[in-house]
Amino acid sequence: MSYDLCLEGGVCVFPWGVTEADIAVRDGRIAAIGRGLGPAAERFDARGLHVLPGLIDPHVHLRDPGDASVESIPTGTRAALLGGFATVFDMPNTNPSVVDPATLAWKQGYVDTHSYCDFGIYIGATKTNIGALGAMEQASGVCAIKVFAGSSTGDLLVEDDASIEAVMRGGRRRIAFHSEDEYRLRDRRGLFSSGMPYACHAEWRDPECAFLGTRRIIGLAHKTGRPAHIVHVSTEEEFGWLADHRDIATLEVLVNHLTQIAPECYETLGGYAVMNPPLRDRRHYDAAWRAVREGLVDTIGSDHAPHPRAAKERPWPETAAGLTGVQTAVPIMLDHVNAGRLSLARMVELMADGPARVYGALRKGRIAVGYDADFSIVDLGRRKRITNDWIVTPAGWTPFDGMEVTGWPEAVVLRGQVVMRGGEVGSEPSGKRVTFRS
Ligand SMILES: [Zn+2]
Repeated sequence: MSYDLCLEGGVCVFPWGVTEADIAVRDGRIAAIGRGLGPAAERFDARGLHVLPGLIDPHVHLRDPGDASVESIPTGTRAALLGGFATVFDMPNTNPSVVDPATLAWKQGYVDTHSYCDFGIYIGATKTNIGALGAMEQASGVCAIKVFAGSSTGDLLVEDDASIEAVMRGGRRRIAFHSEDEYRLRDRRGLFSSGMPYACHAEWRDPECAFLGTRRIIGLAHKTGRPAHIVHVSTEEEFGWLADHRDIATLEVLVNHLTQIAPECYETLGGYAVMNPPLRDRRHYDAAWRAVREGLVDTIGSDHAPHPRAAKERPWPETAAGLTGVQTAVPIMLDHVNAGRLSLARMVELMADGPARVYGALRKGRIAVGYDADFSIVDLGRRKRITNDWIVTPAGWTPFDGMEVTGWPEAVVLRGQVVMRGGEVGSEPSGKRVTFRS
């Protein structure tokens, strides 16, 4: 038996353990795992490297259609590969938003010809498309419905209980929720005025905004029986609450909430620390790490959400909320592994197996025979400095500029093809839509 590709001598992170092995690929799928496997057309020497399943960033905003001078699907998916991801799931709050069958059909075709990595598509819920969501969530490449229950970038907002309940009753797959409570956000907005310190962002969108919204959504999830995925959980209060609702709820934590701490982040970064939900103080940072350690967290996302520099440098609260992150998430998480904050196996569970399980991505997220031959190959010992000039997102900045990390993505294999190696991405986009369980 001959193979198309054999990865040789790497330390592989399998669901059952971390061990040295060769992995053989045929027709884009993993065909054999062992030692001394048969002849292969191409060999990849992975000695000295760790071979992870193709990592998935389940939370990016690639702004396409939108402003290509900030980000686009071609540039954002190249950034994903350079950062060590094989797959991204892209949010719907573009311009126009992905909220109707015609825009979805356009995006499916566009992704097939313009994405450098594999791709999942979110559908945005609005108060006027509720009746169409059940059919749209079954379309090819759709990872989930996204509900913005609290306002952020864009015009998608479903904030009241009756509308959220109607969305939940209009389909059956797990829904992803931005849960901050819109009414409390509006009530508190008047407490602040233009030009106040950037750190006020975390006071306006306080822990109760997030906790109240999450409580409301989980209550409605129980009422309707519809599973909910709470994205970017950011408060100690939510973690405590969600531990009692694991029958219906899964949850995401962002790299930023595991890496940056208020008020220092606002003092050093100004508007480049402004995101929703906000970066918070050490109490919540410690709670997020505890949740990671205790198995409460299901997925880690970057919430890559670029804005032009001018929009980030406006006085608060006119500052645009959202940070670049798809290219830096894996190096930063590898640095956390090296610092002993989580194991490499736990990182893989949160960044590959977890997203595949939560969203029902078929043949993704683990190294096992019959699965897609997607691999994120990393050098755990390599030290590098993250800099703005490395960022290929046209917006051209990262909040982690200047940060030195240990651990770096060396290559990405996508369905048996080496699509990134040594900081170089192939010239042709070869990404495909992910298949999801209906
Ligand atoms: Zn987001």
